[in-house]
Amino acid sequence: MYDVNSKCADDFINHEEILDTLAYADENKENIELIDSIIEKAKKRKGLTHREASVLLACPVEEKNQEIYKLAEQIKKDFYGNRIVMFAPLYLSNYCINGCTYCPYHAKNKHIPRKQLSQEEIRREVIALQDMGHKRLALEAGEDPVRNTMDYYLKSIETIYSIKHKNGAIRRVNINIAATTVDNYRLLKEAGIGTYILFQETYHKESYLQLHPTGPKHDYNYHTEAMDRAMEGGVDDVGLGVLFGLDKYRYEFAGLLMHAEHLEAAFGVGPHTISVPRLKHADDINPDDFDNGIDDDTFAKIVACIRISVPYTGMIISTRENQKTRERVLHLGVSQISGGSRTSVGGYYEPEPEDQKSEQFDVSDNRTLDEVVRWLMEMDYIPSFCTACYREGRTGDRFMSLCKSGQIQNCCHPNALMTLKEYLMDYASPETKAIGDKLIDREVLNVPNEKARAVVLENLQLIQQDNRRDFRF
Ligand code: SF4
Ligand code: SF4
Repeated sequence: MYDVNSKCADDFINHEEILDTLAYADENKENIELIDSIIEKAKKRKGLTHREASVLLACPVEEKNQEIYKLAEQIKKDFYGNRIVMFAPLYLSNYCINGCTYCPYHAKNKHIPRKQLSQEEIRREVIALQDMGHKRLALEAGEDPVRNTMDYYLKSIETIYSIKHKNGAIRRVNINIAATTVDNYRLLKEAGIGTYILFQETYHKESYLQLHPTGPKHDYNYHTEAMDRAMEGGVDDVGLGVLFGLDKYRYEFAGLLMHAEHLEAAFGVGPHTISVPRLKHADDINPDDFDNGIDDDTFAKIVACIRISVPYTGMIISTRENQKTRERVLHLGVSQISGGSRTSVGGYYEPEPEDQKSEQFDVSDNRTLDEVVRWLMEMDYIPSFCTACYREGRTGDRFMSLCKSGQIQNCCHPNALMTLKEYLMDYASPETKAIGDKLIDREVLNVPNEKARAVVLENLQLIQQDNRRDFRF
């Protein structure tokens, strides 16, 4: 039975509840009175239930869809302004004992080169990432209890935080590794991780079992209940995501929101981020083998509906998507993007040789970080390298209450300008720097509090003239 508070995955992601929700959405998808009332509720910026949001997602009425897009854009502006947080993935290892049918790292793929970065290789990769200007990483690894041990992860995190090359530093390490135990989550928290990310892949249990035929990940409930264990272990910033294309998108959308509702109900903290990857071509993987791919319009609608349903949750898009798609969804709700990414194990320090490619998926946006930063600024976005919150202890419910009240903006905006200034001084090309300096001059006037504005101006000077770094609100 559906129970948002239950600790059992079958209850909080209840199959019958999702089917009822989809039937309800079908019945009401052209019910203008109901749709208007849901849009009015969304305008209060307190979010929507999975049922309400599913009605909007199903709605085919063009005029109403335009209202949804408009509202998503407005909510995006209200919560995130024109800032976009930058990050990069760092693949530690592609050894994996699971059999996920959509991922080239599945255990039966015998021709993909298997690699695990040594601490020395991690050091080289991190220096290369710092030299690009990155401050925030998402660590990625397959599941292999013998090779990819918790000790290996803890050591890797320590190595990453310890490297300070020139003015560089990785200030926030998020981690995307297999579901694990409460004790292990506690160790990750103590090691100083930011967000624990785990994609559900699909919420449809039957499909899940087929798509994960072998390995520990086959256990749907253990996987789906991972965020509960993470929270119990003290990791209060968790990141959800589904891989769109595996099952029907409307089912996934309802499941995703039910998961967010569950975390909110059970722990008082919703997801810190939601990622929206789509299935892509990769070694041994042809997206056409999967029947549930979604087109760009549907993808945009999903992003807009997530934005208005969970306004306080950051949304992430990777270089799986090309420049055009990224541009469209930035307006509609995405708040974090990767840039200059390598999706192979290693590859930042030196490109992998052609015959030893280990990518998890083909990158659709191959631009350098400098090009992505410039592109964002040309659209009037502020690329932000901010990592302040978890370093200031603003995590979990403390973060969420600041976010929901809108007060977080008083930190995000100044921090974005100061970290962008660092980037421009240390890593940007002359052309990017010229655009960025003008943008900062304009945007600093938008810091509403007079005292805060004076502090930002002083810090910008110190960054420029005294080579000082790492100011934050
Ligand atoms: S999705 Fe993750 S668990 Fe599955 S095969 Fe790929 S790396 Fe392994
Ligand atoms: S102040 Fe916090 S919420 Fe805002 S960009 Fe920085 S880390 Fe993110």
